Amino acid sequence: MSLSEDIKDFALDLGYSKVGITTAESFPDYIAELNSRRDMYGWYIDSTFQPLIGADPKSAMTTAKSIIALVLDISKESFPEKLLGKIGRHYLARCYLTPRHRINGARRQLMREFLEENGCHVAERLVLPERLAAARAGIVTYGKNTFVFADGIGSFILITAFVVDVELDYDEPTLKVKCPPKCTACIEACPTGSLYQSMKMDPRRCIAFNTFMAQDNYPGGVTSYIPPDIREKMGTWIHGCDICQEVCPRTQKRLKAKLPQNEFLAKMAQDFELTRLLNLTDEYYIKRVQPLMYNYIRHKKYFQRNAAIALGNIGDPAYIPDLAQAIQDPEELVRGYAAWALGKIGGNQARQILEASLTHETSEFAKKETEAALAGI
Ligand code: SF4
Ligand code: SF4
Repeated sequence: MSLSEDIKDFALDLGYSKVGITTAESFPDYIAELNSRRDMYGWYIDSTFQPLIGADPKSAMTTAKSIIALVLDISKESFPEKLLGKIGRHYLARCYLTPRHRINGARRQLMREFLEENGCHVAERLVLPERLAAARAGIVTYGKNTFVFADGIGSFILITAFVVDVELDYDEPTLKVKCPPKCTACIEACPTGSLYQSMKMDPRRCIAFNTFMAQDNYPGGVTSYIPPDIREKMGTWIHGCDICQEVCPRTQKRLKAKLPQNEFLAKMAQDFELTRLLNLTDEYYIKRVQPLMYNYIRHKKYFQRNAAIALGNIGDPAYIPDLAQAIQDPEELVRGYAAWALGKIGGNQARQILEASLTHETSEFAKKETEAALAGI
């Protein structure tokens, strides 16, 4: 058996559903696309992810020869209704930034160790264009919504890719978009216009980006501020957004299949009530939220902000007492978004809380949000 076959067998044994291999040549179209849309992707290009280096693996490891791309099926089990519409499936499956002591990190580590034991030097910390690498390795095809789809699964998959210094047997690329020609369901369903045409997405308008990338001290001018027109479209999403995948005919078979319940998620679901997240204590955040949500958000105040937006969008006056508590939070970010949510819910009770808050509010940001909320009631 060749090393390529050994690698594929080992990966399948680890639980990956598909394995493909491509060369470590650069991805020039991807690099050109990123550079031509710096207004949308500047934050990413300048971030510690360094995607332009990942898109040219030999620039980081001159001996790079091959990319091994892997698909992990994350939709073999059902996700609890309580979490759907709040947290995107990829985050429920703990796909990204998974540490080595958690299952997806451990699986990745075992794969790396196998490659090293078989004579491959594996590149460190390269953020590849993984969807594109997987398409070039012939294991997925693109959808117009910019996600990639694995045959028999759909787009609820995790792609992992390793760059190695060994020449392997390369698979036939499957780079073409494979959607029904007339289908535009994802573009029509995107609430913010982020997905503005086939294969074109403006991340700054994407709900997912705004829920977890909109944090202070991020490069490229990204801050924690979410513009009001985006807030209104966020619905109840607090981490990610699955809308453009949920409407897709290519995901329906799996979404409608009767699947066994994920017991871990079923147990965690009760901890993610929006009112709990709004007035989140440090202890609850560490013990109950972080064990599931350790991906991108680095401070509990962003979960609180997102919960405030979600409650405002639900618009139920029953949440006014929770928001009245949040408008006294030590974090100005939380107070500001609680004010916005109270303004969205409206009515006399909300107005009185906002007016009282304004008399002692010291933060310019929270003051502005409170005044805007009052003006809108
Ligand atoms: S994830 Fe949501 S907001 Fe982002 S492009 Fe898809 S539908 Fe639009
Ligand atoms: S919704 Fe239609 S156009 Fe969009 S990715 Fe799915 S099949 Fe393709």
